[in-house]
Amino acid sequence: MWKKLRIAILLFILATVGLNAWRAHAQTRDWSKTLQVSIFPLNGDGSPAAAARIARLQEEDFKDIEAFFTEQAQAHGVSNPRPLRVSLQPALSALPPAAPMQRSGLDVLLWSLKLRYWAWQQPDGVPRAHVRAFVIFWDSDANGGRVPDSHGLAKGQIAISNVHSTRAMQHSNNVVIAHEILHTMGATDKYGPDLRPQYPAGFAEPDANPRYPQRLCEIMAGRTPVSETELEIPRSLAECLIGPLTAQEVGMRH
Ligand SMILES: [Zn+2]
Repeated sequence: MWKKLRIAILLFILATVGLNAWRAHAQTRDWSKTLQVSIFPLNGDGSPAAAARIARLQEEDFKDIEAFFTEQAQAHGVSNPRPLRVSLQPALSALPPAAPMQRSGLDVLLWSLKLRYWAWQQPDGVPRAHVRAFVIFWDSDANGGRVPDSHGLAKGQIAISNVHSTRAMQHSNNVVIAHEILHTMGATDKYGPDLRPQYPAGFAEPDANPRYPQRLCEIMAGRTPVSETELEIPRSLAECLIGPLTAQEVGMRH
């Protein structure tokens, strides 16, 4: 009797946890309601350049992400005029755990658990966020202008974007942030190990004739293939679109 009850309680807890995770994920794919995305800035290297940029950030700096989602959702048949809203939240000080150098299964699993624990300790944002985008700024003049890789997690709706501190890079930073937000909704990467967009899903205009140069970038491919060998990094979301496969993955298209 007691054993059966214990098992029933355990099953109930498991079902509730599973249901909550499923509900959070389903909400991010319901385009009929406005999805709240909270942007939390962080200083990646403790540099004065990143601090200065964060101090001057305005919500307006991220508005082209909203415009991109509105335009793309409409292109895929979503009638909601405001499918996504971005709000700028106060800066945070505790950085997320760094991604492992070795991308082995166990390391990645442990890191993703630590990351979710860290995210659980962070605020939800006002209004309460469906997706939390942690945007980490790095001094553009250090490290030869390189920043660490970014990550979007579908489990937990967390997007970690590593971006440049220069104001001039804001529009290209927004491409990275939008890419990671889409990961939280279930979108997969559409480039190969050599960073080349996969054909056809990673091409913005796969049917273009001639095929090159492609004019636009599929957001989950992240780069525009301008010839058989050359890639260009988009300068802004105006040069990107959400392709049919990505739209399907995030529930924009059925
Ligand atoms: Zn990606």
